[in-house]
Amino acid sequence: MADREIRSQLKNTAIVLAAGSGKRMGTDTKKQFMELDGKPLMAHCLDVMQRSDIITGIVLVCGSEDVDYCKDEIAGRFGYDKVVAVTTGGKERYHSVMAGLDKIEELAGRDGCEHVFIHDAARPFITEEVLKRLYDSVRECEACVAAVKSKDTVKIANSADYVVSTPNRELTWIIQTPQVFTFSLAKEAYDKLKEEECGLSCQGIVVTDDAMVVETWTSHRVKLVESSYENIKVTTPEDMDIAKAIIRRRGSDKR
Ligand code: C5P
Repeated sequence: MADREIRSQLKNTAIVLAAGSGKRMGTDTKKQFMELDGKPLMAHCLDVMQRSDIITGIVLVCGSEDVDYCKDEIAGRFGYDKVVAVTTGGKERYHSVMAGLDKIEELAGRDGCEHVFIHDAARPFITEEVLKRLYDSVRECEACVAAVKSKDTVKIANSADYVVSTPNRELTWIIQTPQVFTFSLAKEAYDKLKEEECGLSCQGIVVTDDAMVVETWTSHRVKLVESSYENIKVTTPEDMDIAKAIIRRRGSDKR
């Protein structure tokens, strides 16, 4: 593909993260490759992105041992021609995000990609509607994440499991993916994280999402965009049962 073509395909790129070991599922097959409704779990979010009017290109990030599988049995088999690259992730989720950002820069340069939609392959139920809300928001404020208001009261605890405080439930949100940023902001934040990576554990910082990287290493604010309670992350066996129930309900809604 000519350079210019690749650059236009990377305007709004989804980085789909599938390099986790999926240990908490307790199965031999990694959760992102387990079958859900007749296809691998990660194919569900890729179906939505492939059909999307917003996502122009996809970078898949997976374990080094799964690159061929993702190329042949995921991108090839299901005809996801928006997948421009399959690249190798790292030990922590944030290493995998860095790998995705580096791959985009390698293919499109610093200014070939406008927005990145960072998404967990283990979240099968994203919708075009939520992608659209995120896209509208990122064009306004440069940094936004899918989220839902917490239905439960949330407590902040100390390391001995005693309650330290109770945040106002009205202001407590559960954070999901996609997490969406201008490419330049995401790259700036992750480049700074890379510089300071050695000191993370001494400072007690555990990086669990991308918004946190932007909050910590830039002065930019991150907007929360209302998503859906169905946009679950499949982590443990009971999540797989919930995912199957969501598929069944969606099927009966269509009838
Ligand atoms: O482990 P967790 O469920 O938080 O992972 C969220 C997503 O990030 C999953 O789709 C997983 O495959 C991905 N991941 C990754 N690289 C890692 C760890 C997790 O791509 N090192």
